[in-house]
Amino acid sequence: MNVVVLSGGVGGARLVRGLVDVVGARETTVVGNVGDDVEILGLHVSPDLDSIVYALAGVADEERGWGRAEETWKALETVATVGGEAWFRLGDRDLGLHLVRTEALRSGEPLSAVTARVARALGVESTVLPATDDRLRTWLDTPGGSFPFQEWFVARGHRDEVDGVRFEGADAAEPAPGVLDGLGRADVIVVAPSNPYVSVGPILAVAELRSALANRRVPAVAVSPLIGGRAVKGPADRMLIRLAGGTTPAHVASCYAGLIDALVLDRADADALDGLDVRPIVTDTLMRDADARRRLAEAALDAAAVAR
Ligand code: GDP
Ligand code: CA
Repeated sequence: MNVVVLSGGVGGARLVRGLVDVVGARETTVVGNVGDDVEILGLHVSPDLDSIVYALAGVADEERGWGRAEETWKALETVATVGGEAWFRLGDRDLGLHLVRTEALRSGEPLSAVTARVARALGVESTVLPATDDRLRTWLDTPGGSFPFQEWFVARGHRDEVDGVRFEGADAAEPAPGVLDGLGRADVIVVAPSNPYVSVGPILAVAELRSALANRRVPAVAVSPLIGGRAVKGPADRMLIRLAGGTTPAHVASCYAGLIDALVLDRADADALDGLDVRPIVTDTLMRDADARRRLAEAALDAAAVAR
């Protein structure tokens, strides 16, 4: 069975690990968000792709929730000491990857190629693809002004309420090599429990990718990032209230209108199914450990099996 999963960073990577456990690494293709990508200290950082690769390589820091395990921060200390930009936290181990990626991109290698190379070198057997090799950047319109993603999320701690999300470069962005093929070969398409607006949104902003999903011949199932109407972490709930009008499963599904056949949602949201126009699949969705990740992945695949 071939599974394609659309994923942001940390939340998405949790389900991706579960899917890999259930269907196998080679059978899993991840299409990752690049709207969070940022040039910092002269380096091209792809936080969501890296979260997926680190998770699948088994080198992610599970306690901190992002970045690499056994990380040290010496380089960033020097950056701060000499007055450089130190607000975006880059660990020493992490930096090594950004150096290699930046050099590769500068020499003309596409992001998809360098991502594949890095994943392979770290022992990842799944296919990890950026949604696009083209420049696509997420911007947030807030009452305090418009900010590039990382300035809003990290520097300002996503405290500004969001009135609109824009994807600079999306109009011209083509799916990266392998994305449409992967979707064409998929038996099931899964939308990870990632932030619908700033993690999955930038993936769906690539027009040809979105229409491939809209015209799919196989089931597509999304997993809700909310439990009891609250995000497990991050601003997804606040964004849904302001941009979709609420945090019920119907509000989550409205972000994927025409693109999914079923929504996996938590038991804590099972009494709020009014207006939901896709098949609801109710289960425990908190991925606290490997067992829970695996069970949720199985529930998503079972949901897909009966969805169409
Ligand atoms: P980021 O790119 O690193 O911010 O990560 P994602 O967008 O992929 O994931 C963030 C989302 O994952 C948040 O909205 C969380 O609510 C959601 N999330 C994180 N852990 C879990 C979990 O265990 N279960 C569910 N259902 N959602 C989760
Ligand atoms: Ca992200």
